[in-house]
Amino acid sequence: EKSLDGRKALVTGGARGIGAAIAQALARSGAAVMIGDILDDVGRDSAGQIARLGVKTGFVHLDVSDDAQWEKATAATIATLGGYDILINNAGIEITSLISEVRAEDARRMCDVNIVGTVLGMKHAFRAMRPGGPAGKGGAVVNIASVAATIAFPSIAVYSGTKSAVDRMTRVGAMEAGKLGFGVRVNCIYPGLIPTDMGMQLAGDIVKIGLAPDVNAAVGSVVEQTPLGKLAEVGDIANAAVFLCSNEARFITGIGLPVDGGMGM
Ligand code: NAD
Repeated sequence: EKSLDGRKALVTGGARGIGAAIAQALARSGAAVMIGDILDDVGRDSAGQIARLGVKTGFVHLDVSDDAQWEKATAATIATLGGYDILINNAGIEITSLISEVRAEDARRMCDVNIVGTVLGMKHAFRAMRPGGPAGKGGAVVNIASVAATIAFPSIAVYSGTKSAVDRMTRVGAMEAGKLGFGVRVNCIYPGLIPTDMGMQLAGDIVKIGLAPDVNAAVGSVVEQTPLGKLAEVGDIANAAVFLCSNEARFITGIGLPVDGGMGM
């Protein structure tokens, strides 16, 4: 028996990076997993990897900033998996810029994906999972924030602000879902820097902006500020997500769990 046997999950941004790793870890723990992403081909490949683990899976095109697409993706998840009781709100974007150079459209797009996307995910999860909803069995939501929500790092002001918002929305989500009897727990994770596409793009941007001489130095300075002396791996975030969704975490709601080797303390 596995810790997530019988559970049904939707993972946003599950085509690659942290989301793909979480999707695979959920599947290895027995959950059926739907992948939602704007990258259709990569997203379908990611679902193909899940299929090989022997659980039900599927892919649905989902831009998390779009309410109507959430409506469809939620219905598709319930139809494909036969229920819905885990949401991993992982999709996110980072557009690096010093405040003195920031472009309004970039700031707005980060707010749209990271903040609006996360709250819409909670909205549709709550409506589906609460008693009387089309899934109706309660569940667990894990929002992916960032260590950036808790520290100050130059060139990621807006991103940090959006991740602080994810952190606060997690607490309000946990409060509402608890008090209103939805049977849904809501928690978030603060990953440290991870060399995914996003992580390596950020390291490159830091060099371009002139905050580090090269990518090795940029990454090295993060490692230096990390007590455990290395970067996180996607699997580290995935393990934490599996735990927060499992019955072992049944009395845990409204927390932000750093998975950052101690960097954010
Ligand atoms: P990534 O860029 O490698 O992957 C992000 C995925 O989200 C991609 O598949 C992308 O297509 C998808 N996506 C982007 N916009 C979307 C949208 N509007 N709708 C649906 N899907 C969308 O990034 P990652 O490193 O895997 O990051 C995943 C999450 O973890 C993000 O929320 C990110 O902010 C957070 N995070 C990353 C790091 C890091 O160092 N990599 C650290 C802390 C937090």
